[in-house]
Amino acid sequence: MLSKKRFLEALAIIFEMFPEAKGELHSKTPFQLLIATILSAQATDKGVNKATPALFSAYPDAKSLAVADISSIESKIKSIGLFHTKAKNIKAAAKMLMEDFDGELPKDKVLLQKLPGVGRKTANVVLGDAYGIPGIAVDTHLDRIAKRLNIVPQKASVLDVEKTLMRYIPEEKWVTAHHHLIFFGRYHCTAKNPNCENCPVLSYCKFGQERLGGFDA
Ligand code: SF4
Repeated sequence: MLSKKRFLEALAIIFEMFPEAKGELHSKTPFQLLIATILSAQATDKGVNKATPALFSAYPDAKSLAVADISSIESKIKSIGLFHTKAKNIKAAAKMLMEDFDGELPKDKVLLQKLPGVGRKTANVVLGDAYGIPGIAVDTHLDRIAKRLNIVPQKASVLDVEKTLMRYIPEEKWVTAHHHLIFFGRYHCTAKNPNCENCPVLSYCKFGQERLGGFDA
């Protein structure tokens, strides 16, 4: 296993590789960020950003989305995977926000997860990016990188990965580290073609060393 000290050294290098890393979903309010994040499950941020201008122009807030016609919502997000389910979820989430939370997003991870379509990852993303509340949202990129850098066992659950990252990374860096690791996974350590040959953290990465044929760090 990679030690905490070595992981933080690797993370500092990853920070330098992507100094501009930040959330890539377009939104103007915490509510819109919530909706965009729900829509981004198993879809690309780029695809979501193409659909949300029409959606948010018609339904900019919880009040309008809560009473929207479901077929109208679907027509605006049909380019996104699972759009039937997502249309139902975002309308129901807006309705619950109006009925139970006075139209405001709760700033609480547990309460936020009561909304349809909102799991732990979405709650962490929204709370971190909308309100600066510390959290680490583990998506497919963070899960893969944590396993390749060998800070968790290969069979570790998403929750185990989140807990380990929270233990290793200082709390004030949780939100930014999440974005830097996503950029690293999206643009360098990709699922199918990780750029191990030109990787500044190769000497920290058992997976990459083995992949390149037993390079000994
Ligand atoms: S060496 Fe390869 S697998 Fe390891 S972090 Fe770099 S790109 Fe990813």
